[in-house]
Amino acid sequence: MSAAPLIRLSDVHKRYETAGAPTEVLRGIDLDIAHGDFTALQGPSGSGKSTLLHILGLLDRPTSGRYELDGRDVSTLDDDTLSGLRNRTFGFVFQSFHLIPYVTALENVLLPGLYGPQSRRELTARARDILERVGLADRAQFRPGQLSGGQQQRVALARALLNEPSCIFADEPTGQLDSTTSREIMELLARINAQGTTVVMVTHDPQTAAFASSAIHLLDGRIKGDA
Ligand code: ADP
Ligand code: MG
Repeated sequence: MSAAPLIRLSDVHKRYETAGAPTEVLRGIDLDIAHGDFTALQGPSGSGKSTLLHILGLLDRPTSGRYELDGRDVSTLDDDTLSGLRNRTFGFVFQSFHLIPYVTALENVLLPGLYGPQSRRELTARARDILERVGLADRAQFRPGQLSGGQQQRVALARALLNEPSCIFADEPTGQLDSTTSREIMELLARINAQGTTVVMVTHDPQTAAFASSAIHLLDGRIKGDA
């Protein structure tokens, strides 16, 4: 663990050019995500939460501003280098699970490892371990359509964990789940965080946000409370 924060954004702006009408969605974001944080990104619909999460997760680039990962400016890296870095460092979970419907839970989980150095046998063993960790050892051979929403989100979490990410980004991970299942998923995320993985989660639900140890409130593309 280094002294630098895992992620530091400085004066990040994001502008979308749509049909000649540019919208400035992020308007000067400064923030640090420390190693081991569990951060909730909150704010009204359209305030830029997903946009900010995508930038934090290196899925998208800011229009301007600086992004440092572990003290290193990554803004100038080319797309291939950046996506390699992203795949090794980050895991992602989305509201609608984003699983591949026609392969098993096990195969969904080992997918992010297919381009890495591990053999299929090593990957399979690892995927089984992680499925056990998320409580799905007995569902490895089920396809997503044969699983409940909560179970599908556990598979997505297991997939996000495959490459042992430093940080998991979750965009409304309980948005499609009932309150009991939501709590189970949040307890699992909290446990993963307690075991050392940084978590950044978008949510507009206060009960979900309560699992995080800190909150960032976005309003009109700025962090509320910032000058
Ligand atoms: P939130 O997740 O807080 O609901 P988003 O980050 O998804 O907000 O969106 C913020 C604003 O940016 C919205 O007004 C949305 O329409 C706009 N937006 C998001 N993605 C794009 C895009 N790819 N192209 C153009 N506008 C976009
Ligand atoms: Mg969103």
